[in-house]
Amino acid sequence: NGELVLESLTKSYDDQVAVDHLDLWVEAGEFFSILGPSGCGKSTTLKMIGGFVAPTSGRVFIDGKDVTDLPPNKRAVNTVFQNYALFPFLTVRQNVAFGLRRARVGKQELNRRVDEVLELVELSTLGHRRPSELSGGQQQRAALARALVLRPDVLLLDEPLSALDAKMRRQLQVELKELHRQVGTTFVYITHDQEEAMTMSDRIAVLQNGRLEQVDVPSAVYERP
Ligand code: ADP
Ligand code: ADP
Repeated sequence: NGELVLESLTKSYDDQVAVDHLDLWVEAGEFFSILGPSGCGKSTTLKMIGGFVAPTSGRVFIDGKDVTDLPPNKRAVNTVFQNYALFPFLTVRQNVAFGLRRARVGKQELNRRVDEVLELVELSTLGHRRPSELSGGQQQRAALARALVLRPDVLLLDEPLSALDAKMRRQLQVELKELHRQVGTTFVYITHDQEEAMTMSDRIAVLQNGRLEQVDVPSAVYERP
């Protein structure tokens, strides 16, 4: 599960085209990055995949199903944002359990899944802490746990490491890659950092002014001027 197809996806704001007839095919389980400078349309693309922004035209398919007109909570997609967006007054455990509670998952199953995902992101011993009592890297791992516990087929990551310092960012790059290997979910990762996209991705799409410049494996993207 987790094959993603964008078909001629377009978003215009007034007279300005933010995303321009984007055609993309992301394989199930792929670590796929969308790379490009600020303003090239990365966030808008991600928001259309997540269902937060309605495209002007074009379609989004997940596992062959047209989800273009479905609201975010009806898509097997979840998002991790750059500013973590954790609830400050809830503990890590409560933050991670939040979506499961809302989905009325039973207590036993809920606890099992929260334990499992906290172990996956190595936060098992910090479940009782509040976000303010965690480092930036730990907060981002908590945000990842909260997104993954719902078992999305596609995980969208909107510059999730950009708020971290350089050392923490490098560490999280390695951890994210390992996490991806373990869960096997499709990751769509947006970044303006070429080095970051190169290290982590199976394939990279390069966007420029809302248009697709190229899609290729990291080594081939690097070759281009
Ligand atoms: P990126 O994520 O690559 O920085 P965005 O997708 O945020 O790019 O933005 C692409 C273009 O669309 C930019 O020119 C931006 O100013 C414009 N844009 C994004 N969101 C809106 C909006 N809600 N209203 C008007 N213009 C927008
Ligand atoms: P990001 O860091 O994800 O690119 P921004 O800080 O650029 O986001 O934008 C924050 C919010 O404002 C987003 O929801 C985006 O869609 C919207 N936005 C971005 N550019 C514009 C714009 N030119 N006009 C109106 N809204 C915009």
